[in-house]
Amino acid sequence: MRFILLFSFSITAFFSNAQRQSNLIDKLVNENTTTFFDTYKQLHSTPELSTKEINTAAFLKNTMKNYGFEIIDSLGFHSFAAVLKNGKGPTILYRTDMDGLPIKEETSLSFASKVKGKKDNVEVDVMHACGHDIHMTSWLGIAKILSNLKNEWKGTLVMLAQSAEETGQGAIKVVNSANFNTIPKANYQLAIHDHAELKTGEFGFCDEYAMAAVDMMNITIYGKGGHGAAPHNTIDPIVISAEFINALQTIVSRNLPPIEPAVITVGAINGGTVGNAIPDQVNLKLTIRSFSKTSRELILKRIKEIGDNLALSAGLGNDNLPKYQLLDVNVPVVYNNIALGNKIRSSIKNHFGDTTVVNVKPVMIGEDFGVYGQSLSNIPSYIIWAGTLNKSLQNQQNTVYSLHSSHFQPDAEVAIPQTIKVMSNCLIDLFKNN
Ligand SMILES: [Zn+2]
Ligand SMILES: [Zn+2]
Repeated sequence: MRFILLFSFSITAFFSNAQRQSNLIDKLVNENTTTFFDTYKQLHSTPELSTKEINTAAFLKNTMKNYGFEIIDSLGFHSFAAVLKNGKGPTILYRTDMDGLPIKEETSLSFASKVKGKKDNVEVDVMHACGHDIHMTSWLGIAKILSNLKNEWKGTLVMLAQSAEETGQGAIKVVNSANFNTIPKANYQLAIHDHAELKTGEFGFCDEYAMAAVDMMNITIYGKGGHGAAPHNTIDPIVISAEFINALQTIVSRNLPPIEPAVITVGAINGGTVGNAIPDQVNLKLTIRSFSKTSRELILKRIKEIGDNLALSAGLGNDNLPKYQLLDVNVPVVYNNIALGNKIRSSIKNHFGDTTVVNVKPVMIGEDFGVYGQSLSNIPSYIIWAGTLNKSLQNQQNTVYSLHSSHFQPDAEVAIPQTIKVMSNCLIDLFKNN
């Protein structure tokens, strides 16, 4: 009886503590919702391209200094870490990305981006079409809440702002930078990414392999050019390319096990100039997505085998085999740690109810957040999807605009305060339960 009384008392204490924490966070977030949305509008209307996030990084850095964080700079491009040491406890790293995309915004928002930038010396329109502005605003909000509620947790909070996620250059640069070792070593690493198809207020979880490894490859198919009316005197690289592209489709469908997800997409094909001339070469650009090392290696091997043998069967010699150039993209698979996922899920369910947590399937898009988990492989990491779909807006438009769409219009006004509340509670719970 005594045991039951004690037990029920401690359960009640636990829930009232959790409630008190939620209430404190709710109050702070609600008081600052307008400021957060103003920050979002500012970031949304001033996007910067990958590796060029100069003003964005400066704004984030200044704000974090005002919140009392200590800055660790020079983590490659414009990446930096903001550290808040708050006594003895675990260290948690929380990462945001900062870059926009070379896309012309076509939303009707009053604060839509009209910004232009330079990509490969060509002027392009720039847009936050992947929601990295939502990530940054929530990141700032979470930092503000945790710096205001220092009495509620003990440990070290490392807020990492990362350049060049979209190009896969940023994370690898961070972990290879000399200053990376001066960042307190994390016990847990977290990030969010907005999700265009999940409702605002829903948080998506995908344990273990969640996002694919990304490879990009340029291939040159050689031939022997000549008159289009005398193909028998040529070796036509356009015909070889056509056969090659078709044959590539058999790698996923015939070489990989049926339950092993992978993608090979030829996204660009360029060759020739006029209808009556057979060119000397054709250039292809591919992206390859995979989840396992074995699949990735098999795909790369089969691409070469198929290309080489088609060239040989067309009559080309060993000196004219296709050239395969694997680009320097550093986007490994994103692996979400189950035990950490369980802690976060139970924290969210405890504060916000079961329906806030949803399971999502793995996706073939890439995220260089995987670099932190892979390079520091014994550190549990998790990237959580944060829903940004406004149901009523979707009903009006009858369509869902995906990430990277020029029409992408997330429900930021609701998603940002919700994300700040959810992630602030999760972080404080993680700090406490260690
Ligand atoms: Zn993106
Ligand atoms: Zn993104």
